[in-house]
Amino acid sequence: MSTPFPFLRTQARGRAEAGPSPWMRLRWASARVGFIGYVGFALFTGVGGILTAPLATWYMFGDWRFWRHWRPALRLIPQGWRMLGRLVRGDSGFMLDVPIAAPPHSAPVQELVDLNPAWAHSGSCGPCSRCCELIACPVLDPESGYCSGYDSFFWRYFNCGRFPSRQREIDYYGCPKWVMKEPVLVPLPVYHRPVAVEASAPEG
Ligand code: SF4
Repeated sequence: MSTPFPFLRTQARGRAEAGPSPWMRLRWASARVGFIGYVGFALFTGVGGILTAPLATWYMFGDWRFWRHWRPALRLIPQGWRMLGRLVRGDSGFMLDVPIAAPPHSAPVQELVDLNPAWAHSGSCGPCSRCCELIACPVLDPESGYCSGYDSFFWRYFNCGRFPSRQREIDYYGCPKWVMKEPVLVPLPVYHRPVAVEASAPEG
């Protein structure tokens, strides 16, 4: 988010940006690129995801035992095409905009979000499954109401684990649980460059 004051930045975002080494960023980026390539392979070959089912279920459910997940896993194929359609239509509210080299997250970044004071279920989502239902996510277990891909690769590297990280994501899903923290503006250090003062001829 840009700020009208170019010399200021949010304290929370500043902290969120600090830290990871270039090596770690390269690792996370490579993992995402590998996943995106795999999804492309699975979707465009038609059978790629089925032939590599253990890998598909590991990515999405954190479990190589594909036979435990075959029903929701098969529904991931049309879901993948729907997501692709949303991307092509520019439906960025769908939140497929995690920076490629961002760290994986199992939970929202604490510096960015707070529980809504009106939310009555503390850290749990309680009876709500609104965000998953809105996109008809096949990974949501309809019987238990729980996500069967909790903390999987997809959960940590893409949008689920870190949800929400922006107000527009809360708005898009109508999430009643989270509110974004007020940004705290802190001044960035000001660097003075030495200014060369030219000697001028005395007047008169
Ligand atoms: S919309 Fe919010 S409260 Fe509801 S399931 Fe999603 S994250 Fe949980």
